Amino acid sequence: MASNRVRVIVLHPALGPLDYRVPHGMTVEPGSVVVVPIGPRQYAGVVWEEDRLPCETVGDNRLRNLVSVADAPPIPAPVRRLIEWTANYYLAPLSSVLAMSLRTSAAFEAAPTIVEYRATGLVPDRLTPQRAQALERIADRQGLVRELATIADVTEAVIRGLVKAGAIESVTVNTDTPYPLPDPRHAPPDLSDQQAAAASILRQAIGAHAFQPFLLDGVTGSGKTEVYFEAIAAAIAAGRQSLVLLPEIALTEPFLTRFARRFGCDPVAWHSDLRQSQRRRAWRAITRGEAMVTVGARSALFLPYPNLGLIVVDEAHETSFKQEDGVHYHARDVAVMRGKFEDCPVVLATATPAIETRHQVELGRYEELKLPGRYGAAELPQIEAIDLIQEPPERGRWLSPRLVTAIDACLERGEQALLFLNRRGYAPLTLCRACGHRFQCPNCTAWMVEHRLIRRLACHHCGHTNPVPEACPECGAEDALVACGPGVERIADEAAALWPDARAAVVTSDTIWSPVKAAEFVHRMEHGEIDIVIGTQLVTKGYHFPNLTLVGVVDADLGLAGGDLRASERTFQQIMQVAGRAGRGEKPGTVYIQTHSPDAPVMQALVNGDAEGFYAAETEARRDAGAPPFGRFAAIVVSSEDRQAAEETARLIGRSAPKPDGMHVFGPAPAPLAMLRGRHRFRLLVHARRAFDVQDVIREWLGALSWPQKVRVTVDVDPYSF
Ligand code: ADP
Ligand code: ZN
Repeated sequence: MASNRVRVIVLHPALGPLDYRVPHGMTVEPGSVVVVPIGPRQYAGVVWEEDRLPCETVGDNRLRNLVSVADAPPIPAPVRRLIEWTANYYLAPLSSVLAMSLRTSAAFEAAPTIVEYRATGLVPDRLTPQRAQALERIADRQGLVRELATIADVTEAVIRGLVKAGAIESVTVNTDTPYPLPDPRHAPPDLSDQQAAAASILRQAIGAHAFQPFLLDGVTGSGKTEVYFEAIAAAIAAGRQSLVLLPEIALTEPFLTRFARRFGCDPVAWHSDLRQSQRRRAWRAITRGEAMVTVGARSALFLPYPNLGLIVVDEAHETSFKQEDGVHYHARDVAVMRGKFEDCPVVLATATPAIETRHQVELGRYEELKLPGRYGAAELPQIEAIDLIQEPPERGRWLSPRLVTAIDACLERGEQALLFLNRRGYAPLTLCRACGHRFQCPNCTAWMVEHRLIRRLACHHCGHTNPVPEACPECGAEDALVACGPGVERIADEAAALWPDARAAVVTSDTIWSPVKAAEFVHRMEHGEIDIVIGTQLVTKGYHFPNLTLVGVVDADLGLAGGDLRASERTFQQIMQVAGRAGRGEKPGTVYIQTHSPDAPVMQALVNGDAEGFYAAETEARRDAGAPPFGRFAAIVVSSEDRQAAEETARLIGRSAPKPDGMHVFGPAPAPLAMLRGRHRFRLLVHARRAFDVQDVIREWLGALSWPQKVRVTVDVDPYSF
């Protein structure tokens, strides 16, 4: 019989789909999570549509039985399509994408409910006195087997016997405290005209139940959040779930506060910082369609919402949406695909859209909603460049006199200042004055960064740390270590020396590592308990502090170094975002950007407020170079602890490269991080025309080769780090 045979994706990256027999009494359907035998071992897997997964089959007589099926709802069809698309597009094994999806969905950790028992009213054929006593005493009670046995004063075996005989049945009980329902009419805002226009288009899209991506392109402080809140309100009113993706876990707390103000309660949060019990409760509420609004990190994309009506990607330009290990995917793009499979609108909200996203608007695929001005009386801040060659800081200092004077005045007025430097720790490089020894990570091609707050040297790539040594390990000189260059901790030292009475806070992932810490920071800022913030990119986004009127960008050139094709774009976005923290209330803001190249196009665009000019020039440069969005890249990274093995495999891959029209392969060459976590890395870069199916070519190319087990080959489609 063909119907009791199913195809299963097994959670093992080296195994393709396999067929199994469904044993008598078990029911499964596509999406069911099951346990299967492989040799003497057992693996988890998911039942899939047979016709979507061609594979070699075995005869019925050689089929093995499924071991069990999980007591959880099957993975819904749109999620199965999303998993297939992700595996296909990002050239990852289906089982890896599936594993990622299941890890986030907690299907294995959670029985969604508990099972209780109650009498059915049926009298069993064999009615012993004990059975009669049990049925009489249980009557209309309900509980666990153990509880019923106690109530009836019989053994548990008697109760189980009655279950077998059909006189007692099992019922699943939802044990979770329900989440409160967000109320779309709790505190609706008075929208500005431009907000109202955008909100009305989104409301219509929710009503249309159809796939439509939007770019909600509004300057910082224009009130994008209030606009997509209206879309969420419409989805709630229509009984459909919403998902809001945020780039940074630290951002969730301020978001929750605003959400609660608008809807009267918190949304369901989904991120890696949840306790196990919270995670399970959230997962169950989401899966049952009870969680109306979920806010989460990129992993929330693969959750099984049964009834999704809206996806919002806030700060959609953020590069942290690009996952850089495991399955290399871009959550912004996967979000759009999820919307496609769910037939629902997707809103990408940002003040500084990626060039790729703007291009989709130009092609007519995404609809643009513009909010050109700040909400209320707030004006966009004025941006001034400080030429570090003309106006250098004092020796051993990093803040130029003009910036120092401006901060003096800001503090004098009782307002808050923000110094931005995208570098954690005290100094990016430590060396020995006596012999020139530099501290390098033993596992990576990277310098160890001094962190004075914890008195350690740390590698920002693998997390390796050492105590700061007393003497140079190379020459033994004491007190000879010099810190080179500034990190935020060093700027904090300088601020403490310049403004000893000011209260300063360092905001980096070292100090703000949980939503609770973020909430504390927000509270202290809002209550005027902080005068100067010194922070990394963590402070560039999302926050709204009306009394913050001055922003100083300590080193605007930092992101421009290196050959990254997105360096200018990223610098522009980052500085626009951090500038966007200034003057969001009634008081106007000023931004100072310290640079060695004030004439660089990106600095000029920032100072002149010429976003359009910047984007136009940058887009043309991309077009000329055939870079995204006009061409495509894929990086093939070959790594191994054995350098020679990695290099040989990389060469082999290079030699076997196909040479179709429209595609070109560069390398292999040592990867930008030639060693990472103890693995030597070589890279080939595939460049192709936009319409070219690189995935197909790479799949065939690599599929025909083999390499030693100690070598790992990963493909990064649309790579972000160059
Ligand atoms: P963006 O996300 O575009 O930078 P926000 O959504 O953070 O902007 O809005 C900036 C500030 O303006 C916030 O304090 C927000 O509460 C306020 N705001 C925006 N729109 C409205 C509105 N319609 N009514 C009242 N306050 C608003
Ligand atoms: Zn390292």
